[in-house]
Amino acid sequence: MLDPLFSQAVIVLEKLESKGHQAFFVGGAVRDYLLKKPIKDIDIATSATPTEVQAIFPKVIPVGIEHGTVIVRLKKQSFEVTTFRTEGNYSDFRHPDQVQFVNRIGEDLSRRDFTINAIAMDKSGDLYDPFHGQLDIKKQLISTVGNAHDRFHEDPLRMMRALRFVSQLSFKLESDTLDAIKEKIRWIEEVAIERLAIEFEKTLAGQGISDAIALWSTVQIWDKLPVFNRDSMLIRSMETLQTPLPELYEVFAFLKMQQTHVSVKDLVRGWKQSNQTFLMADKLVSVLQLYKQEGLHNWLLYQLPETLYEAFIRLTRILYQVEFKMTDLIVAVNRLPIKSRKDVQVSGNALIALYPNREKGDWIARYLNEIEKAIVVGDLINKEIEIKEWVITCHPPKKN
Ligand code: ATP
Ligand code: MG
Repeated sequence: MLDPLFSQAVIVLEKLESKGHQAFFVGGAVRDYLLKKPIKDIDIATSATPTEVQAIFPKVIPVGIEHGTVIVRLKKQSFEVTTFRTEGNYSDFRHPDQVQFVNRIGEDLSRRDFTINAIAMDKSGDLYDPFHGQLDIKKQLISTVGNAHDRFHEDPLRMMRALRFVSQLSFKLESDTLDAIKEKIRWIEEVAIERLAIEFEKTLAGQGISDAIALWSTVQIWDKLPVFNRDSMLIRSMETLQTPLPELYEVFAFLKMQQTHVSVKDLVRGWKQSNQTFLMADKLVSVLQLYKQEGLHNWLLYQLPETLYEAFIRLTRILYQVEFKMTDLIVAVNRLPIKSRKDVQVSGNALIALYPNREKGDWIARYLNEIEKAIVVGDLINKEIEIKEWVITCHPPKKN
């Protein structure tokens, strides 16, 4: 009997089979199911072509039709459905020259990266495991499907993926796989940074992060990675990291706090990350700097968005060996006199009215900032009359 998590997905398999196609669960979902780990996304491999899949299901998103992949939406769940395929030559190290659809699951499994990722499972839970992935799961080994050199030559990203699975699953590298990585690591330079970044982030999010980082040093990957290849001080900081950091912006904030000479912008640009990643990393750095100067005070709490509470707790633990609890932060934030600028009981117009002879300008925003901060830190009561008095005392109008 299959895990209830697969129950929706089983319907997808049944529908495909009812139209005469073969269909199996494959990849990470089968691996994680066998490992009794929580299952993220469910990938399905089928003999049906993308056009045939589109004809069977009412909601299909064609995400990568040229590679044979579509997303089937069923009762608010998404399933990635990929046609059985093999990949032709990889003359440019990045993309197979052609993708060929094939008829058999066995051929499809043979193009997959590691034995633990090359197990297929049918709708009754029966396994098809031609590369003995279950044995490697038992031995906790990452081992390529076929010759490691050839597989890394086809797609050097697989070396980074191997190291990622070491971290994610706390597995070891099988010895031929490790030897091939040591020998061929320079090929990593051929891989698109965006693809490397996905594996980099997943590696640093894994429980086995310190083993994976030690391996990165053993195989000498650092000088093939953006930004690290120009700054060996960053590598030293990474080698001290033992706690998983689930997001790249946390990693960048950690590096900036450890190595003040580095710029968050350079890290974000070097790894081709989004402006959103920059904003999150930058915000984290500014609150961590406030913490370093004055501890957990009101002004810091006021600046800390809820989305960064967990990151802040993790990073203060790593950087300053303090142990904040989520509930402590929530209670402290709830005690703040105001939650945002909107709560300040005085407007820009009210300030202008206080200084009728003064030209409008930057001073309005500057005064509002001062007022906001004074209220947050408890120097000023958030009442219009009190605020006006305070402003006039701090900034007396010039006598004519
Ligand atoms: P995760 O739990 O992170 O989703 P995953 O194993 O599902 O892990 P994906 O990147 O989602 O990893 O890939 C799905 C499957 O596709 C893999 O399990 C593997 O079978 C295959 N695969 C992915 N990338 C490659 C690659 N570069 N070379 C060969 N096979 C790959
Ligand atoms: Mg996956």
